[in-house]
Amino acid sequence: KGQQVAATAVKDPTDPATDSLLNISDLGIAYKSPNGSLNEVVKGVSLQIRRGEVLGLVGESGSGKSQTAFATLGVLPNDAIITRGSILFDGQELVGLTDRQMGALRGKDIAYIPQEPMSNLDPNFRVGAQLVEGARAALGISKKEAKDRILALLKRVGIVDPERTFNSYPHQISGGMAQRVLIAGAVASRPKLLIADEPTTALDVTVQAEILDLLRDLQAELDLAVLLVTHNFGVVADVCERIAVMQRGVVVEAGSAVEIFQNPRHEYTQMLLRAIL
Ligand code: ADP
Ligand code: MG
Repeated sequence: KGQQVAATAVKDPTDPATDSLLNISDLGIAYKSPNGSLNEVVKGVSLQIRRGEVLGLVGESGSGKSQTAFATLGVLPNDAIITRGSILFDGQELVGLTDRQMGALRGKDIAYIPQEPMSNLDPNFRVGAQLVEGARAALGISKKEAKDRILALLKRVGIVDPERTFNSYPHQISGGMAQRVLIAGAVASRPKLLIADEPTTALDVTVQAEILDLLRDLQAELDLAVLLVTHNFGVVADVCERIAVMQRGVVVEAGSAVEIFQNPRHEYTQMLLRAIL
């Protein structure tokens, strides 16, 4: 791991690619249209996330944020193809890995929180059982150890009666609770990278702030790298150290949160900022 880096390489500490955990470079993603031509929706995106850093990926709906996240998770739909570029995660090239190899990474080193929490819970199984399976597989621990770990994490994410939630079916808990449950499940495998795609968009406004606070606290506590995808600039303001702004499949501007907020250079960023200030 990391040995691809030439020993002679000079490290620039201000270059985000230095010690980057995730290094996406020149990524292209296209959909096949019915007439067989390719419609490129991500057009040469480059992003870096250092270990333990939160990157906000911002941009209006349809700009290609989720496709970029899906490619990193290895869950692009079947009719999408990666046309170019590279996704280096912890020194490993993800482009070209098999579904099985990506599945193993996703269950362990790369975790995911979806926009719709219920979409990632199976309605037929109790919440706890679903999380225990994930933790067992990722960490190679016993069922009992996994259950203890999940119960402790449910408590950590603010669930008042962890035992009761553990034994509930998804329809018996609220959306906000389901999102807490998924966050507990996501961090259970001790991931290095957490990808959260619009994690608060589907929730009540009062719950949104709580979930963001929780994500921020856990991120610091666990030294997690986070890719926080959102169409809402307000969401990234408090949480992210660096921000990348996407428009129509392209990153138009990237920099520290302070730079972007104080001195946005791109017209599109300026427009997004005006909308929240
Ligand atoms: P965002 O997450 O920024 O809102 P997406 O990454 O979901 O945007 O989508 C980027 C573009 O890809 C959009 O123009 C969308 O219409 C297109 N797209 C997404 N999914 C599909 C699909 N299954 N088939 C064709 N085009 C798609
Ligand atoms: Mg999206």
